[in-house]
Amino acid sequence: MPFSKLGLTNSLTKNLTDSNYKKPYPIQQQSIPAIIKGKDLLGIAQTGSGKTAAYVLPILSILKPRKDGKNRNIDALVLVPTRELAIQVQEVFKTYNISLKKPLNIKAVFGGVSINPQMKSLFGVNILIATPGRLLELLRVNALSISKVKHLVIDEADKMLNIGFKEEMDEIVKLLPEKRQNLLFSATLSEKVKEINQLVLTKPIIVKIKAREEKIDLIQQEAYFILNENKGPLLRYIIKSQNIQQVLIFTSSKFKADNVAAKLRKHNIQATAVHSKKSQGARTSALRKFKEGSLRVIVATDLLARGIDIEFLPYVINYELPRSPKDFIHRIGRTGRAENPGKAITFVSNEEEQHFKLIQKKIGNTIKTIDGDRLDLT
Ligand code: AMP
Repeated sequence: MPFSKLGLTNSLTKNLTDSNYKKPYPIQQQSIPAIIKGKDLLGIAQTGSGKTAAYVLPILSILKPRKDGKNRNIDALVLVPTRELAIQVQEVFKTYNISLKKPLNIKAVFGGVSINPQMKSLFGVNILIATPGRLLELLRVNALSISKVKHLVIDEADKMLNIGFKEEMDEIVKLLPEKRQNLLFSATLSEKVKEINQLVLTKPIIVKIKAREEKIDLIQQEAYFILNENKGPLLRYIIKSQNIQQVLIFTSSKFKADNVAAKLRKHNIQATAVHSKKSQGARTSALRKFKEGSLRVIVATDLLARGIDIEFLPYVINYELPRSPKDFIHRIGRTGRAENPGKAITFVSNEEEQHFKLIQKKIGNTIKTIDGDRLDLT
């Protein structure tokens, strides 16, 4: 089914035809017509499935510039768990907004940056993308009102319920009008998501897209058994011998991320660490440079394992294993996205061997292993 059959406005369809989106992804095919009809929707789909456009496009199609002039009411509210995701979703909205005959006012707000400019800029905003904490702060000072929201999107809902957002979510939901359209997207259908589903959604259409877990065979994988103290030399060896121009490296702690990035820089490999202790400015700038291709390496904690879309990222390296197999899948899912090939390399120390076995079992994949200690890493 082509984009032109989904019920989107002509100007949006034209913008899509001119872009490199040849046809809608399954999540878009199934969600867009239902959203345009005003239905509530529960989308079980991971980042990489095209879920952002699945709600961005119909919302832009439905919303009209407000007749009641500029005020502090928001028409569509998109809640996301991280600042990076807020910026990314805003970019997708803006990409398509410019093709509308009457473009809408779109804004993203998130913590970690000064609240004052955000407070001042919330006049006449149609679509707001927000992290829950900062949204509540802004609501408390009456910088905006969500009592007239027509469309609510909760993106990465499973994560939103996991990391202490639950109370914030409850508080936000109470401030919304009863009559509204609710769109909830989640990578998994956990018990918690079922709970919020009941809290927020009314007779939702359920769209379930084959999970990335079932698609990871698109990503070429290999693992190196390596002594802990040799991980650094192995990393440099791989970056050089495989001529890696861009790689996202995952560690399990902030300290390690800083440490690995510093060591790479010492060996003249341009690298920046990204984790929750870095300033928002530093995080945004590193990610922007990385996406533009002007930064070679990001060393990150699991903060970047979810949701972040980096076009054509060829390599992901697990310098240390994550605790959960799910995070392993999210991490390696940063590569091999949107049908581009990708390679995921995992370092496994003696201490991590048992856990690595468990991860392989859980993801149903046997990963090719190489004895890194036999390589000449000098
Ligand atoms: P998302 O799951 O929303 O993070 O999207 C993953 C990636 O797929 C992004 O880079 C999108 O630009 C890309 N994408 C989304 N929809 C399509 C489409 N219909 N055709 C080609 N690429 C797409």
